[in-house]
Amino acid sequence: MNSHKVKRCIEILERLYGTPEPEEQDPLDLLILTILSQNTTDVNSLRAFRLLKSAYPRYQDLTDAPLKDVEEKIRVGGLAEIKSQRIAEVLRKVQEDSGAFDLRFLAGMTKEDADRYLQSLPGVGPKTSSVVLLFSFGFAALPVDTHVFRVSRRLGLVPEEAGIAEVQRILEAITPREKYFSLHLNLIRHGRRVCRARGPLHQQCELREICDHYLQGRNP
Ligand code: SF4
Repeated sequence: MNSHKVKRCIEILERLYGTPEPEEQDPLDLLILTILSQNTTDVNSLRAFRLLKSAYPRYQDLTDAPLKDVEEKIRVGGLAEIKSQRIAEVLRKVQEDSGAFDLRFLAGMTKEDADRYLQSLPGVGPKTSSVVLLFSFGFAALPVDTHVFRVSRRLGLVPEEAGIAEVQRILEAITPREKYFSLHLNLIRHGRRVCRARGPLHQQCELREICDHYLQGRNP
């Protein structure tokens, strides 16, 4: 039943926000950008990433640099001490495992093996791994961030009590494969603009007709 609901949800969100298409992105760059995006805004993480790339055009330069210098470059992205350390560790591990600062070898693996490898890297959890798998390789992974988690539970696409791993498993099962990218990005957009964590704007929401929370008169 929820596969009908998710299709309706995708249709409404695409009408509102368009149909996003993935852009080709180097997987290692995307992984570093996603690590930088943890606990900060997209604007700040992108700024930190650009500063990092302009200071260290080659990842070898970054791993050779003192950690304190790297930390300074990404300060705008928050948690600079932890993130600089993680990034350096990730780069060294990738270089050690593949002989280069390059993650493209994952394309030859199954999704499960590529996911296992990514999650074995320092500071990389299921969400970060899924972002790289979907965006850079087109693997069938549907990343669940805080907005996807909240909005999909409120809508009733997944059970209220489901944890993040369960939400991801169910969304991947009920969403048409070619719509993973669209649903992921559009739920984030909707979560930021309308179905906010505090004070969701129900009266302006085009998903009301299919939203459990709204139809049941609950106040999230
Ligand atoms: S009706 Fe309210 S709870 Fe439901 S998706 Fe819209 S804003 Fe969120």
